[in-house]
Amino acid sequence: MLSHTFDDMKIKFEKSQSSKSSGKEEVANYLVRSRGFTRIHLTGPLNAETATADDGSAEVTELTFKSAKKILEYITPRWRTNFVTTDVASPIDLYLLWKRPFVLVVGIDAPTGIRYRRYCIKQEASTKRALSLEQFVDIDDSVMYTCESPPTGVQTVDSLSLGMAAAALAGSSRDTLAAEMALRAESEPQPLLSPIIRNASDAHELNLKRVLSSANVSIANTFPTQEGLYQYLDRIDLTNSERIRPSWDTYFMLLSELASHRANCMKRKVGCILVKDNQIIATGYNGTPKGITNCSEGGCPRCNDGTPCGVSLDHCLCIHAEENALLEAGRGRVRNAEGVVLYCNTCPCLGCAKKIVQVGVKVVVYSKGYGMDKLTLKLFKEANIVVRQHTPPTLSMEIGSP
Ligand SMILES: [Zn+2]
Ligand SMILES: [Zn+2]
Ligand SMILES: [Zn+2]
Repeated sequence: MLSHTFDDMKIKFEKSQSSKSSGKEEVANYLVRSRGFTRIHLTGPLNAETATADDGSAEVTELTFKSAKKILEYITPRWRTNFVTTDVASPIDLYLLWKRPFVLVVGIDAPTGIRYRRYCIKQEASTKRALSLEQFVDIDDSVMYTCESPPTGVQTVDSLSLGMAAAALAGSSRDTLAAEMALRAESEPQPLLSPIIRNASDAHELNLKRVLSSANVSIANTFPTQEGLYQYLDRIDLTNSERIRPSWDTYFMLLSELASHRANCMKRKVGCILVKDNQIIATGYNGTPKGITNCSEGGCPRCNDGTPCGVSLDHCLCIHAEENALLEAGRGRVRNAEGVVLYCNTCPCLGCAKKIVQVGVKVVVYSKGYGMDKLTLKLFKEANIVVRQHTPPTLSMEIGSP
């Protein structure tokens, strides 16, 4: 149970006790040291002792709260400040954070063997007896899949501290990041059917696999050194505000990616969104025309006989995503094409490019390359169409490697 008193207190920063590359704590330390985040602690049975400790030797002020209510009251008006916590230990708490628009949940994981070796080093340093690999894996599985209780006398939190738990950091869309920590008020009904909590028992059991798969960003911390991890976090621009609230380009690119899920062409999944003044005027995905058997059900012989991509397109029955979007919009909606932007998750083929030029679209944004990008881009250049390649950061699953 979490404490329900509402006193908050400022405490001094306690220097990290974690061994090098130990996962979530290292990511949190990075955010504090390199990005000016303020560490926030939640007091509760799992961390009350360390969180309230004050040895007087600290350099940086930290905050410890005993309830979500106090944290919310404190943090909401301080949205210009960035906060980070690694103390989220229940699905309910995590869900309450996750659903807020200015919170980013970062899932941090590492291969079991690496985590076990880090754990052993840590135990050695503290002269504690280490678990066997088998015991370690048993605990790990119980936390990951809620498959069975950990062996008696071993706290689940032990494995959480090995660097595989979710860390939450938060921010606003206004370039600066703010944060909110939310703990469940006793009276609040349990949030069900969320990506993290699907039934009543989930609310009280940490199913880390599900929690990690719901994270906004996933990091596999395979770095042997802290320096390597920090450089990697710099490289992926972890605190990019687009991860919190997407720009227009990211927003429409994500929507075109979503449209591509409806594609039925055997060749690839392409989605297209046609926008005028940032309002959607048409959407499209690739596949056979209305009333014709879906390509994926044998509707197009060319797509189904193994013909390489981009070859024999004149025998193809499939309509491309861009064509479908342009057909749906018609001349009417694209008339006065000023402000019309075509978003496509794949660079248009030459056939589509001709039609895009002819309709009068002024800007094309694409994400992935295709087989004839050079020809397409040459045509667009001649037609004075502005082209941007844009890959949303939130689409990517970040996997660290040394
Ligand atoms: Zn097809
Ligand atoms: Zn086809
Ligand atoms: Zn095309």
